[in-house]
Amino acid sequence: MGVNTTGGVSFDTDEETELILDSIDEFVEREVEPIVEDLGDTYTNPRKGHHENGRVTDDVLEARDEIRRRSAEAGFYAMNLPEDAGGDGISPVTWYRAKKRLASHGGGLERYVLAGPEGPKPLLLQAEGDQREEYLDPVVRGEKSTAFGQTEPGVGSDSPNMETTAEKDGDEWLINGRKQWITNAPYADFIQLFARTTPQEEVGRYGGITCFIVERDEYEIGSYNNAVGAEGSQAEVILDGVRVPEDRVLGAVDEAFYAAMEFLSLGRLELGAEAIGYSEYLLSEAGEYVTEREAFGEPIGNFQQVSAKLAKGRAKTYAADAAGLKLAWKMAQDERTIMDSSVLKWFATNVLWEVADAAVQVHGANGLAEENPYMDLVHQARILRIVEGTDEIQLNTIAKSMGITD
Ligand SMILES: Cc1cc2nc3c(=O)[nH]c(=O)nc-3n(C[C@H](O)[C@H](O)[C@H](O)COP(=O)(O)OP(=O)(O)OC[C@H]3O[C@@H](n4cnc5c(N)ncnc54)[C@H](O)[C@@H]3O)c2cc1C
Repeated sequence: MGVNTTGGVSFDTDEETELILDSIDEFVEREVEPIVEDLGDTYTNPRKGHHENGRVTDDVLEARDEIRRRSAEAGFYAMNLPEDAGGDGISPVTWYRAKKRLASHGGGLERYVLAGPEGPKPLLLQAEGDQREEYLDPVVRGEKSTAFGQTEPGVGSDSPNMETTAEKDGDEWLINGRKQWITNAPYADFIQLFARTTPQEEVGRYGGITCFIVERDEYEIGSYNNAVGAEGSQAEVILDGVRVPEDRVLGAVDEAFYAAMEFLSLGRLELGAEAIGYSEYLLSEAGEYVTEREAFGEPIGNFQQVSAKLAKGRAKTYAADAAGLKLAWKMAQDERTIMDSSVLKWFATNVLWEVADAAVQVHGANGLAEENPYMDLVHQARILRIVEGTDEIQLNTIAKSMGITD
């Protein structure tokens, strides 16, 4: 997609983007599929890739690391980052298309081909001096992984009200608090941790929060949070009197929340792309099944109640994709995208929820079979409707943009 002669949005892809998308498909086939095959049942049945407490097994962890490293070597992993940070500086439109194409493979280990929550996010681009060499560069190369620590037992949607604090003590910061549901926290080399450094009464609702780089041997893991569908990926992070040196502040003191808000749209673009890619995968699987499976002497796709489920899914996925492309295009023009990104996040993840339910339904009992991926994608849809701003938070933002609420 690019700018057309009338100055508006065009839905055509350029040749370079097509090449990137084709090479992602080839990479998945050549590099990821053999790794998944070697893992066999350990991976295809997600309930076998975990220890009893939820911790992901070593062979699955090694497979993830291997995919990340190979993808970084091949130049895919962080290609959306600017060139001076080790990326290729591809546009948000190409990144959106790449994320969607990857998800259309079905959402298994392929997801580690392009940087996700464990990888370099724009927040980490604030790394300066030695921080770059120590933290940013190895994450871009896929050699280290990270995590983003904001949610706490007492706050999720209302994260500026966090209770974790950091106090200056000489040339160190003393951190106390607890985070939970932190993706990749047990396996990360370091976490980007948000803590309150100045009381809200002095700096307003969003001020007074600072981001610290805290290394894996400096924080403790409590229990695994084990969301159904993401077992072992999230855990509680315990910070009891953790001391970090001054040079571990990422970005400006007291300004981390504002910095994170600047990148909200990118996160929502990525999740929207993921949801749409999964929907496309499900529609293709279900479409094939209903033309082959017979009941009452004919393919079940001939029954309008069956075909209409998939046709509605197709129409909604198509509309969600148009919203995704428009958001990506506006981001490429540096336009304001708060409302657009909430529309995409809410709409695309709800479309996936409906499509995943339809895919299970048209597969009958096979839709529920644990060796099939359909229920796993129902769980993914549920997760996507909660992370990075729930449905309700997105709708609040949309209502606010309409001038209905403050
Ligand atoms: C798989 C997974 C991965 C995650 N990864 C991370 C991570 O890496 N880092 C991180 O920091 N966090 C992470 N989280 C946490 C996630 O960001 C929060 O769960 C999310 O922000 C919602 O917060 P909550 O669960 O505390 O729900 P709450 O904020 O308690 O909300 C509960 C319900 O109330 C509704 N609600 C709350 N406020 C309003 C309002 N103003 N108007 C209308 N409805 C409202 C919500 O929409 C929701 O339905 C993850 C969660 C999951 C499940």
